[in-house]
Amino acid sequence: MQRRIAIGQISHETNVFSPIQTPLQAWKDRGFALGQDVISKLKGSKSAIGAFLEVAEANGWDVIPTIATGATPSAPTDAETYAYLKEQLLAPIREGKPDAVLLAVHGAMQAEGVPDPEGDLVKSIKEIIGDKPVLLTMDLHGNITREMCENTEGVFAFDTNPHVDGYERGLEAAIALKHIFAGSIKPVVAYAHPPMMPPTINMRTAEGPMVELFTLARQWEQDPGIINVSVFGGFPFGDVPHAGLSIVTTANADKELAQRCSDAIAARAWEIRDQFLKKIATVEEGIEQCLALLDEDGVGPVILADVADNPGGGGSGDTPELLRALLAQNIPGAAAAILWDPETVAQAVALGVGKVGTFKLGGKAEPNYGAPIGVQATVRAITDGLFNPRGPVGRGMQWNMGTSVLLQVGNTRVVVSSIRIACNDADVFRSMGIDPVDASVLLIKSRGHFRASFEPLARKIIEVDAPGAANPNLDRYTYKDVTRPLWPLDR
Ligand SMILES: [Zn+2]
Repeated sequence: MQRRIAIGQISHETNVFSPIQTPLQAWKDRGFALGQDVISKLKGSKSAIGAFLEVAEANGWDVIPTIATGATPSAPTDAETYAYLKEQLLAPIREGKPDAVLLAVHGAMQAEGVPDPEGDLVKSIKEIIGDKPVLLTMDLHGNITREMCENTEGVFAFDTNPHVDGYERGLEAAIALKHIFAGSIKPVVAYAHPPMMPPTINMRTAEGPMVELFTLARQWEQDPGIINVSVFGGFPFGDVPHAGLSIVTTANADKELAQRCSDAIAARAWEIRDQFLKKIATVEEGIEQCLALLDEDGVGPVILADVADNPGGGGSGDTPELLRALLAQNIPGAAAAILWDPETVAQAVALGVGKVGTFKLGGKAEPNYGAPIGVQATVRAITDGLFNPRGPVGRGMQWNMGTSVLLQVGNTRVVVSSIRIACNDADVFRSMGIDPVDASVLLIKSRGHFRASFEPLARKIIEVDAPGAANPNLDRYTYKDVTRPLWPLDR
């Protein structure tokens, strides 16, 4: 029988503390494909959609492409944009009557008036296709609801943080679908959520508490009845009743087994919750530690990670406090990326390469996170901001920083972009003519994803607690809608 599957992606990590709005244009800025364009743009890519297409082709399934888009983390998208995105997903499903749907979502999305869009999307799909399967690939930073789990036949979250396995999880989901079609499995999904919402700073899968939880997940997956165990660390900048860590198990027909697995790992997460907490340096301490390291012998740059302004977690990418402190030191060979500041880019482009101007760097999106830095700077380079990062996160896919400039402020070179993205690959610097290996200090606006590319070349990474929308110190924020009591807010 000729199978027909619908594929799609709507993915956003929503940060309610972010000053950055999420209109339709924000989705279009980061890659946006409808209908056949989904196939022409993503076929062969090392993404979840690329994997869906590969397995579909190998099995001779007809593909109904819907929408593929994802916006950089920011505030909840507006109701009108959400309704539009949803309709682009649902209309081809209504018309094409697929036998199954493979969907790549994040899990921590919010839209105006819709606290759980992923749950809303799968429920709406089920209203069209009935009990036919819907399988999801997700980000391990998802805030998951029971309702979403009840409307899906399989959840396949990233097993890596930094996330480098979107393609592999896409393969896993699509191959599970193949087994469903063959009648050899009948998946059920079970959910557990202990009352905890860890900060994301210590959620990497190479060290810290996630290692133990993932080891448990892999052990449970040895049970022939279990198809996938997804450990969601959650996203603490989404102020929703379901925010926080959850464990989602997909098992073959055995709901009781799935629930037992989710409950057991959730219980262990609760026991080791304090391991998720991490004290990080203040701006002053970070600069001090950096200067001390530069006085010693060592190879490679010292990295100052501006984790609280990670655009990949909803940061504006333009907070000035750590950059201000670095510029004040005027360290030879220092560089910073990526400051999101379209105004400064336009001004530098108008001036031209080699010219000197007076600029107000950053501090424009949210005055509470610090005022702009007044500087005199030389325009060293102007680029279109398009490049293909070769590190494990980018995997050769094109990234777009928009028109970008390199400014020299004293000894420090600052990469300024007009599109807001996190500095998650060392090729960001190379694309602007800087060899990151030769730098003395690199200020990087990212929380954790930069590590996959930068850790091998860095002398040391210092995470800094500066003002911003994605600070690991959750006590800096006022929550309204999370379910209390919730660790670590209520300790
Ligand atoms: Zn994530």
